[in-house]
Amino acid sequence: MTAANWSFPTAIRFGAGRVAETAEACESAGMRRPLVVTDPGMADLPLLATLRDHLDAAGVSHGVFTDLRPNPLGADVAAGVIAFRAGDHDGVIAFGGGSALDVGKLVAFMAGQSRPLWYFEDVGDNWTRADADAIAPVIAVPTTAGTGSEVGRAGVVINETECRKFVAFHPGMLAKVVICDPELTIGLPPVLTVGTGIDAFSHCLEALCAPGYHPMADGIAIEGCRLVIEHLPRVVADPTDIESRGHMMSAAAMGAVAFQKGLGAIHAISHPVSVRWHTHHGMTNAVLMPYVLEANADHIADRLDRLAAYAGISGGASGLHAHVLGWRDSLAVPHTLVELGADPAAAADVAADAVKEPPAAGNPRELTEELAAAIYTAACEGALHGTR
Ligand SMILES: [Zn+2]
Repeated sequence: MTAANWSFPTAIRFGAGRVAETAEACESAGMRRPLVVTDPGMADLPLLATLRDHLDAAGVSHGVFTDLRPNPLGADVAAGVIAFRAGDHDGVIAFGGGSALDVGKLVAFMAGQSRPLWYFEDVGDNWTRADADAIAPVIAVPTTAGTGSEVGRAGVVINETECRKFVAFHPGMLAKVVICDPELTIGLPPVLTVGTGIDAFSHCLEALCAPGYHPMADGIAIEGCRLVIEHLPRVVADPTDIESRGHMMSAAAMGAVAFQKGLGAIHAISHPVSVRWHTHHGMTNAVLMPYVLEANADHIADRLDRLAAYAGISGGASGLHAHVLGWRDSLAVPHTLVELGADPAAAADVAADAVKEPPAAGNPRELTEELAAAIYTAACEGALHGTR
């Protein structure tokens, strides 16, 4: 594997073993007493111990905060801010999967603000309400390849009082340094490798299919899709395939860059499902994907034809659809949302929430409550050929 340094959209240090550069990255980001924000499941894993050893060896005193949920809440951010202030920290190392990265970025964002988190919801120009000078620097070190949150300028948590996904955005949340070390993903359980990998694919795919003129995002999205199509099966077959792990990590970052163009119905429906039944975001997307592709089919055929040709899949858009359905068997993706715990009777409620989700605006055809309910019901019943 070739190590490389990129500065798009921020400084990215890509390559196996580069987690060893974290202490130096702290110095370059101007932090001396970082708070490591990570998933609770990471607390006893060698990955975290290795990171801490690197920091200790370089004399970087640091704290560790692990008190966050897999689908994190606003309360998790508040607890992190308390830990940040109590430890007199001056920056955050966000280390883990999407949850830890999002909470880490939001803790850094909120550390110096005097208003509550909900005040900064990503609506209109609300982000200008924040005191930009008070945002602490972040170093993002992903240990999954999916969310792409490491290169994003937003943090997502659940607003637990309103039972919905909440997004805060600020340019100052962009990590000063990202360390993409694919060795960190080798120990991921297969179900997380698949779930996060298909999340990355869904970011690229929905960005590619979102309406609007954004050829830069389209270019990144189509290559991101190809990388997942080629390399996700390889990392599932051989979790130690470091070259393919690296390509998956790149695809994850590419997805988050590309979806500035927009997302779509996969994410719009996935969010209220995850909020209600605490399902894994990426795996929920994976289940929904064929139903959404079918519902949107008449509006995305040209783009999927191009993607299929580029990715070496024969049969154009329908070949691509069949390929994605093939992941049911080859990657052990469930066929229905019911298998993830969703309740088919909740279609109207899920649909009402889905159309209000920001990703709904990027769907290539209007996502009405009726259409969202039809997609949700089809995805609960396993009924393809029912939503067009
Ligand atoms: Zn996603």
